Amino acid sequence: MLRAFIDTTAAGVAVTARAVLDALLPPQCPITGDTVSAPGVLSAKGWSQIRFIDDPVCAGCGAPFAYNHGEGVQCGACHADKHSFDSARAAILYDDASHKLVVSFKHGDRTEFAPMFGKWLARAGASLINEQSIVIPTPLHPRRLAVRRYNQAALIAGFAANDLGCAYAPQGLTRTRATQPQKLLSEDARKRNVAGAFAVREEMIELVRDAHIIVVDDVLTTGATVSACARALKKAGAARVDALVLARVARGGADAI
Ligand SMILES: [Zn+2]
Repeated sequence: MLRAFIDTTAAGVAVTARAVLDALLPPQCPITGDTVSAPGVLSAKGWSQIRFIDDPVCAGCGAPFAYNHGEGVQCGACHADKHSFDSARAAILYDDASHKLVVSFKHGDRTEFAPMFGKWLARAGASLINEQSIVIPTPLHPRRLAVRRYNQAALIAGFAANDLGCAYAPQGLTRTRATQPQKLLSEDARKRNVAGAFAVREEMIELVRDAHIIVVDDVLTTGATVSACARALKKAGAARVDALVLARVARGGADAI
């Protein structure tokens, strides 16, 4: 508790310092560092480095394919290792440029980019939705939320749901225990780390039953986090769970088999 208090205070000081700096300095592109016309926009050079994911993609995990293999075809990784979500779609590739963008948003308080990310997500997720779809973000553990003060997945999920015209349930899922940051772990360790770490909130079970849920997260690496969320949602009776993420890692050699 004391540690959480100290962390929160430190973050508060950092934010105050940042707010003062923002008022003094012109807005910068988080990718190139160039001065831009307004907060929440990228420089032309930054834009040109973002790689949007377009068809053809794996029908399972949304990994980009080099060639169109036909409708419904899944990549080798999806055949080898079944995930618990029905399908996933990502807006952009996670590479050096988008890493800078995501890190500034997630850890640098650059939340002014959330509306733009919402539009990117809506573009990538348009083929997933129907009239009954409900958007739910991956939750943060309350302790981490206290330090960061915002759930980056919930921020972009809210804008995406609005742009998609979907219902939005920001409190649909909860973390039942704290987990280590996934970025430090191997693929197997990631699965173990988040196994059973999520649950549908008691008051949301009625909403989730027989519903189509779209779980929104910022980055998909192995898919362990959204898979664990999908398992919790299906356990609560969800009919279908798809994942929609801002950026995904392109797996080497991810192509159809
Ligand atoms: Zn796949």
